[in-house]
Amino acid sequence: MSFSRDDRGSAVLGGVPLASLFDSPEPWGAPAELTTPAYVYDLDAMTAEARALDAGFGDAPRLIAFAVKANSAGPIVRAFAACGLGAEAVSAGECQLALACGVAPERLLMSGVGKSRRDLDAAIGAGEQGIFAIQLESVEEIPAVAARARALGRTARVSIRVNPSVEAATHAHIATGHDEAKFGVALVDLPAAWDAIAREPTLSLAGIGAHIGSQLTRTDEYLRGARTLLDLAAERERAGTPLRFVDFGGGYGIDYGAGCDVRPADFARAAAQLVAQSPLAGRTIVVEPGRALVAAHGVLCATTIIAKRSRSTPERRWLLIDAGMNDLLRPALYAARHRIESLEPAPAGDPSTWRVAGPVCESSDDFGDHLFAGVPARVAIRDSGAYGYTMASQYNGRALPAEVFLSGGRVMAVHMPRRAESWADERARIGR
Ligand SMILES: *Cc1c(COP(=O)(O)O)cnc(C)c1O
Repeated sequence: MSFSRDDRGSAVLGGVPLASLFDSPEPWGAPAELTTPAYVYDLDAMTAEARALDAGFGDAPRLIAFAVKANSAGPIVRAFAACGLGAEAVSAGECQLALACGVAPERLLMSGVGKSRRDLDAAIGAGEQGIFAIQLESVEEIPAVAARARALGRTARVSIRVNPSVEAATHAHIATGHDEAKFGVALVDLPAAWDAIAREPTLSLAGIGAHIGSQLTRTDEYLRGARTLLDLAAERERAGTPLRFVDFGGGYGIDYGAGCDVRPADFARAAAQLVAQSPLAGRTIVVEPGRALVAAHGVLCATTIIAKRSRSTPERRWLLIDAGMNDLLRPALYAARHRIESLEPAPAGDPSTWRVAGPVCESSDDFGDHLFAGVPARVAIRDSGAYGYTMASQYNGRALPAEVFLSGGRVMAVHMPRRAESWADERARIGR
């Protein structure tokens, strides 16, 4: 876990006391104008996480494709590419970003339930031979992908993303089953999808995949999905189409504070064992982790603006901070809970409960109840390295937050969105 406290009690990430990044930035290599709200990431911990996952596969051929939507910052995607990871993109923009960060086209996958012509052209047209595979999510998109390949004079490698909802429907506890209904090809439609691909000379079937959901804190549903995929793949091979890979998707959970005993490598070990014992032994295993590689190794630092009290009974206390739902949307969007801790050492005394909230004019701009001794001057919202900045917006006319990238105990890069940018954008929109 890369977030910790030093012996003085100050919050530390990647060997850097977080408060000092703002109080005395220069010695750490941070710019003097760095202010909160700011995401701070520990790149070394992220790459260590990727290496631990990779080691879990043992000798099995694999492709770890980082789901770029979790965190698309250049220094992070570049660091993963340098470790040999591939990428999973869901748009032309993410595809081009991954390529620009050094991900080889043959290590890039694209998913997406509604791929535009621009998305398809970016995938099929990448490099000399296009990307590793385009994951097809409906029977209906098959002719459209084939047509773009024809127009570009190429053959597109494709895989089918199977929708496990048939399976999930029998296990109501997989709560994402219904939300995910728009994704992937339903099992009943799979024969039609195989036939449609076989009819298209510009498509080459390379694999089969599934992504059963996110924040999985146990391996059993994942393995149930993996077994289904392996059965389907074996059936396809018996029908005469050899497959190069099986893709078990992402979704590995992390500990947001409520516990998570499994590590990404546990999923890898289990998947590798399952494939080794199946007719698909020796085929490439693709996985698409996003959250598990980055979430725990990023924090969102914020400053307390006002400690507001209501003298009602019982008394209510709000800690209003300068980071809001526009910076970190997960609590407002998914009722997600993040641990929030003081950057400075906590004063002695009994902690009391504060409702931490942002400045945005929405009741859902609320990070929940947290315990603090005294009023913290600044806080770290923990486990914010995934689905944080990538979901940030300029809602309420707010600038995007800064991003600070740590490696080797110092700042190796900083992204400071120009603070005037939001106004410049507004000017363009109002036409003046
Ligand atoms: C979002 C997504 C992932 C990554 O999910 P995590 O829960 O962040 O691991 C992987 N594959 C697909 C197709 C996705 O949409």
